[in-house]
Amino acid sequence: MLLRHTPKEVHERTALTVNPAKTCQPIGAMYAALGIHRCLPHSHGSQGCYAYHRSTLTRHYKEPVMAATSAFTEGASVFGGQANLLQAISNIFTVYEPEVIAVHTTCLSETIGDDIPQIVAKARDEGKIPSGRYVIHANTPSYVGSHVTGFASMVKGMVDYLAASNGHKENRINLIPGYVEPCDMEEIKRLAGELGVPVIMFPDTSNVLNGPQTGKFHIYPDGGTKVEELIAAGSSIGTVALGPLASGPAARALDTKCKVPCEILNLPIGLRSTDTFIDTLRRIAGVTVPESINIERGRLVDVITDMHQYFYHRKVALAGDPDQLVALTEFLVDLDMWPIHIVTGTPGKKFEKRIKEITREVPHPVNVRATGDLFLLHQWLKSEPVDLLLGNTYMKYIARDEDIPLVRFGFPILDRIGHSYFPTVGYRGGLRLLEKILDTLLDRQDRDAPEESFELVM
Ligand code: SF4
Repeated sequence: MLLRHTPKEVHERTALTVNPAKTCQPIGAMYAALGIHRCLPHSHGSQGCYAYHRSTLTRHYKEPVMAATSAFTEGASVFGGQANLLQAISNIFTVYEPEVIAVHTTCLSETIGDDIPQIVAKARDEGKIPSGRYVIHANTPSYVGSHVTGFASMVKGMVDYLAASNGHKENRINLIPGYVEPCDMEEIKRLAGELGVPVIMFPDTSNVLNGPQTGKFHIYPDGGTKVEELIAAGSSIGTVALGPLASGPAARALDTKCKVPCEILNLPIGLRSTDTFIDTLRRIAGVTVPESINIERGRLVDVITDMHQYFYHRKVALAGDPDQLVALTEFLVDLDMWPIHIVTGTPGKKFEKRIKEITREVPHPVNVRATGDLFLLHQWLKSEPVDLLLGNTYMKYIARDEDIPLVRFGFPILDRIGHSYFPTVGYRGGLRLLEKILDTLLDRQDRDAPEESFELVM
């Protein structure tokens, strides 16, 4: 087996990551940029980086991902990438006619020290940016952060470059959905619609990366937040940002730039976080929660109650992105499950503290590491096995090695479908998560049951 040599004993490592629990910053920046209507993401670096970013997104979404690259060669690596980017901006607007080019940097261009705002200003001075078109940017060196911080920087870039106040407040709320699937963004919008709250959501990858087969190729699919909406976000009455790490920086920037106050919440995964999301929208917009949402909530509570015995005190190990893991861990604790090994590859001081708070009543020691990797998680599992793994596709090696069932959740998922079509946020998303967890636990129970207790009815 691939991981046969993973030792049980943990030796602290500071300079080495083995099997990282993250991907690189530009992938998140590219994903965020695809959530703008008629936007072409642009990778300022070598073709190798760009191929990796595109292929990871394509493999996760099973959709073509359109983007461009500065295509650095030896010359750009020595003298800087200004000439490449100026040429690229001119070519892209002429040939592909986007409304926005969203430039993100890479390790190489960051190490060279290319000054993207200066290059963009030069492109504008030289008439390479047609009027009514925009170039925005985010700095995304991958020797720090992860795809989540790259996403956060590009969403903040949308605010920095585009949002503007028109001098008065319009009766609508900005929603920043966080690093979630296209279907999750759609579900978040649907819930706001059920409440009757007018919103501008950005970014919005629904109908971009989970669009229908129409028989025709469109370089810019129908979905995505329109530039006019991004500008108008500066005049909304408030912002609700979901996921502190992915959405917090943009929400705070909008508050500073346009005086739009913000509330930063957990991702609405599970009962409690969805309650907080619905209640916050209700309070800010001054609406009442309709019966349709109460019914959705009631169904989730019903399934939790009915199936509680199957979740009770089951041990779980999780790996993924901090915003998702915080909400997910809280949900698992609410189900009376025991999340006992938790790693994220995204550095951040608050993560471990937050997980410790959430799991303080779990009657079992909890291992948590913010700069962990899947190798460490595997070592923990060798000392203390669990009933269930929750995480991305890379966890399948550990699942196979340790014979522990895996529920795929997070990014990237390269070997299954469904994640971009069936949401895991909101009450309906909570139901889907429960179904997946329950199916997996019961399949294992059926597999291992002796004949005399192989039950037909649960
Ligand atoms: S060199 Fe840096 S930006 Fe490029 S793929 Fe590797 S980690 Fe990502």
